Amino acid sequence: MPRNNRPRRRAGDDEEDNDLGRLLAGWKRVEHRRDGDWNVQPVSVVSATKEYLCPGCGLTVTPGTAHLVTWRADGVLGDSADLAARRHWHTHCWKIGA
Ligand SMILES: [Zn+2]
Repeated sequence: MPRNNRPRRRAGDDEEDNDLGRLLAGWKRVEHRRDGDWNVQPVSVVSATKEYLCPGCGLTVTPGTAHLVTWRADGVLGDSADLAARRHWHTHCWKIGA
């Protein structure tokens, strides 16, 4: 009897890749602000499944809240490092923080 050794996939890695791929593939815009250029991408209600700390007000962005994710667009550290350092903002906090 031949043995059926299927390669195992590491679910954690796949999740991370999908997350990154979704961010890169999704709709986003670049905003020019005092502190540089920023990629700004909306996160929909269904995509917001975790808690984040909003850098604008210091309060929690609760799961199920549509918000914005931002990362630098001037490429100082490179795209992947910038993406890894992305921040999640309440939509109104990002707007008034300009
Ligand atoms: Zn906030």
